[in-house]
Amino acid sequence: MIPRFFLFVLFFVASVPFKAYSWGFYGHRMINRAAIFTLPPELFTFYRYHLPYLEEEATAADRRRGSDPLEAPRHFIDLERYGPPPYVLLPPTWKEAVACYSEEELQSHGILPWHIQLVYYRLTEAFRLGDRDRILRLSADLGHYIADAHVPLHVTHNYNGQLTGQHGLHALLESRIPELVGSDYDLLTGKAVVVERVRDLIWDCIRESAGFVPLVLEADCRVRDSIPEDDWKVPEMRGQTRVMAYSPTYSMLYNRFLGNLMEERMRSAIHRLGSLWFTAWVEAGQPVLETDVKPPEQGLEAGDSKDIDRHLSQIHRCAEGK
Ligand SMILES: [Zn+2]
Ligand SMILES: [Zn+2]
Repeated sequence: MIPRFFLFVLFFVASVPFKAYSWGFYGHRMINRAAIFTLPPELFTFYRYHLPYLEEEATAADRRRGSDPLEAPRHFIDLERYGPPPYVLLPPTWKEAVACYSEEELQSHGILPWHIQLVYYRLTEAFRLGDRDRILRLSADLGHYIADAHVPLHVTHNYNGQLTGQHGLHALLESRIPELVGSDYDLLTGKAVVVERVRDLIWDCIRESAGFVPLVLEADCRVRDSIPEDDWKVPEMRGQTRVMAYSPTYSMLYNRFLGNLMEERMRSAIHRLGSLWFTAWVEAGQPVLETDVKPPEQGLEAGDSKDIDRHLSQIHRCAEGK
């Protein structure tokens, strides 16, 4: 028996046409963009000026997968390889990791947490050198990998539900759900902070994500129990190709069973990313960036000036200790 509320939701969403998005792009762009608005004024002006680049390049790491064979393992880790939670066999640093396992083995199970540490280190160095292009490129990449680390299915071998008969879950969780309801997310997370122990923060992202894997799988089972199989998927055009994709009905119900999981993961990724950018800059000695540049007057997207207003009021609220 399906509760009446769901019947209403099903009826409503079934009449809404699905927009075709590139998988994963929406969430990555949103995280890089929103993280800018957590920054203190000394960094905000610089990052805000380069917002279009940081948003566009939020998915550069994914694009590199096709051309760089070393890229793919940087986006995930199969934690099961390291025993049951709390994964005591996991070496916290890359140096310790290569002392315990062969590099080939590490690569085959994914190196996401160690790679985030490396990108963070490189970003700090780029700030020290005042290398603007590298600062921007590494900031965008750091955003990508931090975002990946917040997706539960990026830290498990069962990354697409393929081991539990739930094939296709990855895109449903990290792409379709944010695309469907992301515009309702509250992405104001408070201002960035200096992170005391960067490595611990990175592992926190990973371990938290692992803790949500059971929920992600169970919620999907509940959807399957709630609606007839014929309603699970619908044909959809991706470019010139016709594919079967999870139906709006299925997706909305899945989101309902997930609760606010993806909104919270996104908020967490945003705040941590802003904090890591900020911490790298502080560690580098707080170099002066191009603070005299003004945000571009032309080519602003709708809502940009509103973003700045929101950011300023956020700083104001923080300054007042609220
Ligand atoms: Zn990725
Ligand atoms: Zn993914």
